[in-house]
Amino acid sequence: MTHFSALSARLRFVLVRTSQPGNIGAAARAIRTMGFARLVLVAPQRYPDPEATAFAAGASGVLADAVVVPDLRSAIGDCQAVYGATARQRAVALQEFTPREVVMPVQTAAQSGGEVAIVFGNERTGLENDELALCHGAVHIPAAADYSSLNLAQAVQVLAYELRMGFLGNPTAPPPHRTDPPASAEQMEGFFAHLYAALYDIDFHKGRSPETIMLRLRKLFLRAQPDERELRVLRGILADAQRMARLARGDRK
Ligand code: SAH
Repeated sequence: MTHFSALSARLRFVLVRTSQPGNIGAAARAIRTMGFARLVLVAPQRYPDPEATAFAAGASGVLADAVVVPDLRSAIGDCQAVYGATARQRAVALQEFTPREVVMPVQTAAQSGGEVAIVFGNERTGLENDELALCHGAVHIPAAADYSSLNLAQAVQVLAYELRMGFLGNPTAPPPHRTDPPASAEQMEGFFAHLYAALYDIDFHKGRSPETIMLRLRKLFLRAQPDERELRVLRGILADAQRMARLARGDRK
């Protein structure tokens, strides 16, 4: 297997709630022309559809192999790195990358045996906030500030092109400095749910917004990319904090 195909095997393009089947076909073609193959469709509004097949042209294999799932969590649960493509720049919540900048973290995750997803939103509404919240970073194509929204399949094309150039151009990217792969998105969500509960139990919030704190903490822990073992230690600390909080309340359960 070449270096490129090894990386490409780890990468999936995820289209969320696509409304135009033509865009699904054109995205399949964009993926195929750049040497990639894996397409995941989250709750497509019309699919399968002859228009998708027509727009895919010679990339019918990518469509035939496309996986259809009901929600974003099912599409990315097993991924170690998840990047959401957004037409708008949004400040606080996520670290933001250009397509060229995202190549390195994608490549690093894929090389350490991780699964990677690039996620694209619906044509009209883009990615919802709760969908973006499941992503570990945002990718923004720095388009014209007063009209930055590309056609969905063209956005897929730009990302696929940059990833292709990056993968082909850095055949000897440094091996990652870690032995264990980062935890999966599903494991991270389990940790965040536990953290959320523990912060309540120790009365951390005191009237401040738990949502804002959680967004900051998500950003911090997602940047750190803990592995499974590290998550177990963190969750052990949370469990002990919760136990001590129960004791402090005089609750002997
Ligand atoms: N009106 C929507 C745009 C949706 S375009 C909005 O403002 O969010 C459909 C999808 O194409 C987007 O969800 C995103 O995944 C991708 N896309 C379009 N333009 C992009 C850009 N400039 N950078 C990154 N992704 C973009």
